Amino acid sequence: MSTSTDGAVLVLNAGSSSLKYQLLHPDTTEVIAEGIAERIGEDESSITHEQNGESSTRTEPLDDISAALDAASEMFAAAGTDLADAGLSAVGHRVVHGGRSFFHPTLVTDEVVSEISRISTLAPLHNKANLAGIEVARKKLPDVPSVAVFDTAFFHDLPDEAATYAIDRGVAHLHAVRRYGFHGTSHQYVSGKVAEFLGREYNDLNQIVLHLGNGASASAIDHGEPIDTSMGMTPLEGLVMGTRSGDIDPGVLLHLSRVAKLSNDQLDTLLNKNSGLKGLCGDNDFRTITARMDSGDENAKRAYKVYIHRLRRYIGAYMIELGNVDAITFTAGVGENADNVRRDALAGLENYGIVIDDERNSLRSKQARRISTDSSTVDVLVVPTNEELAIARQAAAVARGEQPE
Ligand code: ADP
Repeated sequence: MSTSTDGAVLVLNAGSSSLKYQLLHPDTTEVIAEGIAERIGEDESSITHEQNGESSTRTEPLDDISAALDAASEMFAAAGTDLADAGLSAVGHRVVHGGRSFFHPTLVTDEVVSEISRISTLAPLHNKANLAGIEVARKKLPDVPSVAVFDTAFFHDLPDEAATYAIDRGVAHLHAVRRYGFHGTSHQYVSGKVAEFLGREYNDLNQIVLHLGNGASASAIDHGEPIDTSMGMTPLEGLVMGTRSGDIDPGVLLHLSRVAKLSNDQLDTLLNKNSGLKGLCGDNDFRTITARMDSGDENAKRAYKVYIHRLRRYIGAYMIELGNVDAITFTAGVGENADNVRRDALAGLENYGIVIDDERNSLRSKQARRISTDSSTVDVLVVPTNEELAIARQAAAVARGEQPE
């Protein structure tokens, strides 16, 4: 028995070699179907689709995003949903970089496509893939409005001092070099949920949000306004991530370029794919790293320590920037699941009013929850993120002619 799709939103997250999608109702939050096509463009590509409580996988060559969406459409059809005739209210696209041009969810027109394309030098891999998703959806679902939701949008109004790199102003201006911030959809959604959970006005709260997934970022939100975030011009800056380095002395790149003769592409691969936890210990999944640490693996221990050290450095910086912190919140795969990371990130901060309750912290749950003690003056929370829902809601609102924040 299939669910009604009337008014549902198809959310697409098109990456360079993957397409994640979810069909959901923005109001009831009901997820009708979801899936992922992986290793697109490679020999061993596959697509997994879940609908009506069943999961099916096809392993077949998927040359590009268009082929992946075709395969997804066929799997929707096999489960009883004709996407073109499903009464969808919108297709919501995650777009990584909005540059200086986009800071609201935006109805996609030909002009918008051109502008996203023009600014894609800022995030060549990401934005090109996102654009491919947009173009394919517009072609295959011409009657459904496509809406672009930008990962940078929430941080659009970062204070100048937080957004500016200390380099030659002329060069920075000419090449749009500044800090944009990413994961904005998640930081916005989670910080909104924190206010709901605490029963407080959003604009009354000072928050630190730690989005710790494969990619990871921190944000400082002052009375509802983001005042700092750890990712910069690209999603490479900041925290140690699964495969990305995060902060690194820019001189290292000059050194590797001059002395090791690494090309731009090699440096790109090094910093984005072969660094972070993976670079340090060969694994980027915290479940594996924790198991390796438990069996005494020194490389895993070092990777973990470097990860926690960087995280604490950002938490400390944001506590000072905010002056007074109401809530520190962990979210995304690591933040929601790894109780050791949460414990160690905030260990020994009792003098700052941050006290974790070990029992609450070790509880496993899919719900928003408090993990600090009742006497902790800072509320420490775990709040599951839901970027798909946030994108779906924003896309549906834009399709109705509203302009969400
Ligand atoms: P992405 O940035 O790809 O969306 P996620 O937010 O899904 O990533 O986070 C993925 C990461 O979450 C995994 O690489 C793993 O390190 C971590 N993770 C997921 N589940 C657990 C768990 N049960 N315990 C510890 N870490 C986990």
